[in-house]
Amino acid sequence: MPVPAKRRSSSKGRRGRANKGLAKKTLAKCSKCGKPTMPHHVCPFCGNYQGKEIIKSKVKKKAGSKK
Ligand SMILES: [Zn+2]
Repeated sequence: MPVPAKRRSSSKGRRGRANKGLAKKTLAKCSKCGKPTMPHHVCPFCGNYQGKEIIKSKVKKKAGSKK
């Protein structure tokens, strides 16, 4: 039975597998403000979803209250 010349240590194997679950999050663009948002979610920047304003955004208020 063949034996591997150099065995990978258990910690080295675990270290490699540690990043296996990391995946890039898919981002959609908001149709109104164009900022990246989570798909099927209300835009956190302008509060729009499918062309309707669902939540009155806090960002707008802050922008309006700027000195
Ligand atoms: Zn938006």
